[in-house]
Amino acid sequence: MSNATSGGPGRITGNGAVVARAPAKVNVHLRVGPLRTDGFHELQTVYLAVSLFDTVTARPGEGLSLNVRGEGSAAGRGPASVPSDRRNLVWQAAELLARHAGISADAHLEVDKSIPAAAGLAGGSADAAATLVALDALWGTRATRGDLAGLAAQLGSDVPFSLLGGVALGTGRGERLSPVLARRRWDWVLGIAGEGLSTPTVYAQLDSLRAEGRVESVAAGHTGDAAEPVIAALRSGPASALAATLGNDLQAPALRLRPELRRALKAAGEAGARAALVSGSGPTVAALAEDEDAAVKLAATLAGVGVFRTVRAVHGPVPGARLVG
Ligand code: ATP
Repeated sequence: MSNATSGGPGRITGNGAVVARAPAKVNVHLRVGPLRTDGFHELQTVYLAVSLFDTVTARPGEGLSLNVRGEGSAAGRGPASVPSDRRNLVWQAAELLARHAGISADAHLEVDKSIPAAAGLAGGSADAAATLVALDALWGTRATRGDLAGLAAQLGSDVPFSLLGGVALGTGRGERLSPVLARRRWDWVLGIAGEGLSTPTVYAQLDSLRAEGRVESVAAGHTGDAAEPVIAALRSGPASALAATLGNDLQAPALRLRPELRRALKAAGEAGARAALVSGSGPTVAALAEDEDAAVKLAATLAGVGVFRTVRAVHGPVPGARLVG
């Protein structure tokens, strides 16, 4: 079996398993425009892929079957919220790729989740991207990266970035990507709260805050070149420049839904973070550290704040969905 995406037969192990992994993301810049007629908001975002990975293992099978382990699974850590049937994005990714390739969707899939669910870290999107890469290799579909990116966009707004990784500017609903070359490593601490937040609920809360005039409304075509300073800072630093440009329009609604996150943001600042913000739709808090040593110290401090069930030191950029092993 061979494939155009990821390097061919050597990647399939003796027992016929193919393993792929994909990273979590942090939105270091997220501007939310007006609601579109299709129900999505127009976005301008800068994505950074970070070193927290989910793994998908695909094996030959008859029909589709799925087993989910780890974060968010019925037997794993955190509130159980990840389905193991066709509601799972992994299942949908498998069916979509099979339809695209004109074959029947036959595989057994196992997802090992380290990325907490409903945390604003695009865990489901990472799983979908890893599934596309793993099944492309298992089934030998010979899909190009462009084919996979097109399928990814059908699965969800963040899935194309989970496939691409690195740093990218996202427009549209986040699925139209322009890669950005970042020359340095960025260290972060992720503080993950116990209960997930639903992305649609956070957007609805933003719409309410804007209707009440509590936060600024953004007109169509708002985005302009607001991402440019963030991109310039991400490319080569220093950390103080990136810290000054971080921003997320979903932070205000996430804080309204989870007021205790204010304490975490403040604690991150007091503990030496260069800056801290809510990641995506939250409730994860992402705190920027000066370097790896500072991130380890910051993680220890944030673990003691009493808001988070897990605290992880991570770095980025890292590559998108890839075969491993
Ligand atoms: P966003 O991409 O909007 O930042 P998120 O990271 O906050 O999303 P996800 O981890 O992708 O959230 O999960 C959102 C919901 O999607 C979950 O509550 C779950 O019901 C559903 N879901 C479907 N498939 C998966 C999956 N493989 N992993 C996690 N959640 C999934």
